[in-house]
Amino acid sequence: MSDHVVVAVDVGGTGMKCALVRPDGTVHHAERHPTLAQRGPAAVTANILDIAEQLAARARADGLLPVAAGVAVPGVVDEETGTAVWSSNVGFRDVPLRDLVSDRLQLPAVLGHDVRVGGMAEARLGAGREERHVLFIAIGTGIAAAHIVDGKAFAGAHGAAGEVGHIIVRPGGPPCGCGARGCLESIASASAVGRRYVELSGDEGVTAYDVATRAAAGEELANRVWTEAVEAFADGLLTAQALYDAGIVVLGGGLAEAREALLAPLRVALDARITFHRMPRIVRAALGDTAGSLGAALLALDSLETDK
Ligand SMILES: [Zn+2]
Repeated sequence: MSDHVVVAVDVGGTGMKCALVRPDGTVHHAERHPTLAQRGPAAVTANILDIAEQLAARARADGLLPVAAGVAVPGVVDEETGTAVWSSNVGFRDVPLRDLVSDRLQLPAVLGHDVRVGGMAEARLGAGREERHVLFIAIGTGIAAAHIVDGKAFAGAHGAAGEVGHIIVRPGGPPCGCGARGCLESIASASAVGRRYVELSGDEGVTAYDVATRAAAGEELANRVWTEAVEAFADGLLTAQALYDAGIVVLGGGLAEAREALLAPLRVALDARITFHRMPRIVRAALGDTAGSLGAALLALDSLETDK
């Protein structure tokens, strides 16, 4: 077992994080590649297969035995059938990625959802490792979450659990990409915060991170936009806490880079809303953008255990 590794690939909209991971969760080798999504889903799939095969070859060259492969992708993922059902940023439509990887590598393979496996990695190896009930929330272009209990992520009946970004926090509010109005992600995602500031200030190209920095420096408009986002986030989190009763909320994704500028006012705002609920700890993710590839590896290792 000491020479065993799994091949892990986390496919993002712009880049792929790849690794050879040992059964104890430590990384033997890591590398990154561009996704090249603009070339279309068939080219992306071919690229994933080539990279996975090269990683398995690299493991053997290093005297290790690749025993399985785990792939994480964004969008809607059917983990049971191993199908990348739909992804707006990579362009997948019903791609049987698990079987394609398994056939090419001649190894057992699994397919997971990027946020769910990232949450699993944070829960077992990262910021949530001392808690049994973990809610991982990734705040970037959108807001997505994973509910992990005892290291296992729950995907729901249709693979769509954890969509806290579409909790409606401002009925009749800004339009959301999902078709509804006033969803949490239409107000508190990184893109929504940047967009709102640009709309009110007329300044072009301001990011959510800039808004957080300007708010911390005392700029009034930035402070207003940031506070709106934090208040909306606390409203969404109150609903999430009513449903999940998490012991710890781990925040990842680009907006979590704002660190205490986000975490400190969010704790105050949630605490002010709490009635019967218990206050979770609210912390920043610990594994950064390697959570997805580590989680893909954990999923692959878990599948080997259940096969035994
Ligand atoms: Zn929505």
